[in-house]
Amino acid sequence: MIIDGTGKPGFAGDIGVNGDRIAAIAEPGTLQGRENLDVSGHVVSPGFIDVHTHDDRLVLIDPAMAPKVSQGISTVIVGNCGISLSPLLLNGKQPPQPLDLLGGADDYRFGRMAEYIEAVEAASPAVNVAALVGHSSLRVAAMGDLNRPATDCEIEDMRLMLAAALDDGAIGLSSGLYYPPARAAVIDEVVPLAREVALAGGVYTTHMRDEDDFVMESLEETFETGRRADVPVVVSHHKCAGRRNWGRSVHTLQAIEAAAAKQEVGVDAYPYAACSTILLPEWVDESIRVMVTWSTPYPEMAARDLADIATEWGVSQKEASARLAPAGAVYFDMHEDDVRRILANPLVMIGSDGIPHDQHPHPRLWGTFPRVLGHYSRDIGLFSLEEAVRKMTSLPATKFRLKDRGRVTAGYFADLVVFDPATVMDAATFEKPIAPATGIKTLLVNGKIAYSNADESVSGRSGRFIRRRAIGSN
Ligand code: ZN
Repeated sequence: MIIDGTGKPGFAGDIGVNGDRIAAIAEPGTLQGRENLDVSGHVVSPGFIDVHTHDDRLVLIDPAMAPKVSQGISTVIVGNCGISLSPLLLNGKQPPQPLDLLGGADDYRFGRMAEYIEAVEAASPAVNVAALVGHSSLRVAAMGDLNRPATDCEIEDMRLMLAAALDDGAIGLSSGLYYPPARAAVIDEVVPLAREVALAGGVYTTHMRDEDDFVMESLEETFETGRRADVPVVVSHHKCAGRRNWGRSVHTLQAIEAAAAKQEVGVDAYPYAACSTILLPEWVDESIRVMVTWSTPYPEMAARDLADIATEWGVSQKEASARLAPAGAVYFDMHEDDVRRILANPLVMIGSDGIPHDQHPHPRLWGTFPRVLGHYSRDIGLFSLEEAVRKMTSLPATKFRLKDRGRVTAGYFADLVVFDPATVMDAATFEKPIAPATGIKTLLVNGKIAYSNADESVSGRSGRFIRRRAIGSN
């Protein structure tokens, strides 16, 4: 059964692939190739596009990309939440949190996006890679003191670095206004940068200033940025965090839909009621469970609950988190009803937000896409399989302007995943987060087999760096 990514009902058929492209779609049993892959009884869909990743360094150091290809992901978008490995030269200086989620001092070695792209192409990862430029990375590059708004001169420096990166092939800008390195940035700092993205035909994604009590104000800030810069915006990993805010997705989604009627708006989300990021004492709310994912001074505390550690040490959870720093954590801060309401909204795409270098990562790194297909679509019935696939393929390709990807149609790139709709399911859990999903059979990236669950020795590395399309080009 071919599910073509557009949302239309699946249909039986043959797919012909020639080189890196889909050559033909035909009646079942009518196409013969030099090589034939019999996938009867399975679904073939476009390879999944993970719009929200922090795989900037993973694609370089572990190009087999097991957490991603085992989910059927053929393309990742790196550089989200304001943090990108490029363009930023740290010359051995420690990166401020959360830039350390991507790597250490020596990993920030790409002063230009072109150098990062060259490194990705040399690494030849199993998946395609498209890159956003992180606003926080630009701030670290352009400013000494991050705890104030940028001056006009610094904004101009950032704008020039961003313009060069877009010119090299970056697809847009991301911000992380929630995080300390960008918290002091005002909208008048972000708009001129977003404007540069608009001129290049790119997108602006944002980990908003607040996803908690001030989530509505943050949405308004995001839409205003989009309107003033005339740029498409994407709200990253949309959520209503914190007990007091559970249920508010009814209103946030109304606001998003109202804005989307007037300007270009996208949203991504992951299928879990817990988030994960760095561990900061000010974010520890003792009413919710917090699990440590890594800690530099106390690596043995990874996978343990903060409450237990605090009890053992005879201190508050805030004090315990201060002692564990620098560290990362999973925060169980969302309500399942909000997660489902957000996932089900037709504007919402799927993005894993996986953090690949964590010692005990959030299970979204290995489980996101099969969980949406198996748990939320098949078992819960939140939406059809066709709609689940649309959220992972044509919708993100359109929103992020990835040309000729995200659909099973003649002329498009042969990024194709074969899966068993009856068994596809995530295996990663909060307790055992490193586990490949089941039911993903074969993945083709640019016409070559990138993953096969029947034969682990088959592992092609045919991913490409996807450069921004110049305005006016088809
Ligand atoms: Zn984020």
